[in-house]
Amino acid sequence: MQNMKLWYPYAQMKTKQENFHVESAKGTRIKIKDGNELIDGVASWWCACHGYSNHELNMAAMEQMEKFSHVMLGGLTHDPVNDLAELLVDITPEGLNHVFFSDSGSVGVEVALKMSIQYFSNKGYEKKYKFVGLKNAYHGDTFKAMEVGDDPDFHGAFEKVFKDAYHIDPPKSGYNLSEEEVEEDIAKLEEVLSDHHEEIAAFIVEPLIQAAGGFNFYSPRYLERAREICDKYDVLFIFDEVATGFGRTGKLFAMNHTNIVPDIVILGKALTGGYLGHAATLATSKVFEAFYSDDPMHAFMHGPTYMGNPITCAVALKSFEIFKRDGYLERITKIEKYLKERFEEIESDLIHSKRVFGVTGVVEVNDSEDLKGFQQFAYERGVWLRPFGNYVYTMPPYIIEEEELSKIVDVIKEWFKR
Ligand code: PMP
Repeated sequence: MQNMKLWYPYAQMKTKQENFHVESAKGTRIKIKDGNELIDGVASWWCACHGYSNHELNMAAMEQMEKFSHVMLGGLTHDPVNDLAELLVDITPEGLNHVFFSDSGSVGVEVALKMSIQYFSNKGYEKKYKFVGLKNAYHGDTFKAMEVGDDPDFHGAFEKVFKDAYHIDPPKSGYNLSEEEVEEDIAKLEEVLSDHHEEIAAFIVEPLIQAAGGFNFYSPRYLERAREICDKYDVLFIFDEVATGFGRTGKLFAMNHTNIVPDIVILGKALTGGYLGHAATLATSKVFEAFYSDDPMHAFMHGPTYMGNPITCAVALKSFEIFKRDGYLERITKIEKYLKERFEEIESDLIHSKRVFGVTGVVEVNDSEDLKGFQQFAYERGVWLRPFGNYVYTMPPYIIEEEELSKIVDVIKEWFKR
């Protein structure tokens, strides 16, 4: 126990397998100290969209560090943070005009939730401070993010302190559902909002992909109808695009699959090309205006030390430049097509279902025991994949080449063939 100075995430320290020790990582390859080289199938929890150690991103960070590394945003401002705010307003749907930066996806979610509560309190509705989320949602590991999420595997020990969130059944899986199917799910939202809207500030979702909570891929129509229901009951609608943002669903953002604009959107992970922890919480002018007044008490009282860190912003700006210049959305379409074709070949009685959406391919098994040993199996075949629960999935970097993707699929196929 004395040697366990480093406490690893989501891990039973007593029984966990030893972590593989990374020596270097470049592009899609992770080199382990024992000499093994792995093709990355996970993009480091889905953030490393350009792979690792990208020269242009390295230079963007270096150049910014030579100018200045960090300054507080209280009383000071700088080009990288202003330019990034402008870029994000530009590339998101019209209406999301204001950007608040923070240090991680979870904190970006906290910011969105605090904004929603204070939005109503500034308007004189002190009782509207609760939330509605989806069952099996995951929004991060900080307290309120855990509470609006619904993931007993991650957060069970803390359930006793959650008291202000309602959870409704998630929408059924499927991108193209019939109107009736969507209405069945929407009825559940309408029921909770019609009963409790006087105390509900916002409805929060991971749009189109409930990721960590089980890779439920659902219909954009659900989001469009939910927008109408939220408007009907004066409830804000929040999109947590921490995982879906920057191409993961095949479009730049999940909201681009719909004809609606949420009131608040959180971006994270690939925002910085997977280099540094940061999040952007974007709000519409309707939300912003509730804070914009002569009353100092109406100001949004939040300010993480590292918000808008200049190195992070410089890297994020460069990251998007590469994303556009190198045609990432076209790459993503190709990856999706390839995964869809090749996943057809994965077969076994152990499999409950398979699905591919954007750059996310998932095989769900009936029993998580059937994935025991998979990580090691993939490792021995030069691939980095890390299943959790009943899911083995790949969310690779967008720069991945077809032969590398092929190797990832082959490993999954081989596992089920044994
Ligand atoms: N929201 C979603 C949808 C996520 O997938 C995650 C992380 N997996 C978070 C929030 C939390 O982000 P972070 O780990 O950067 O705090």
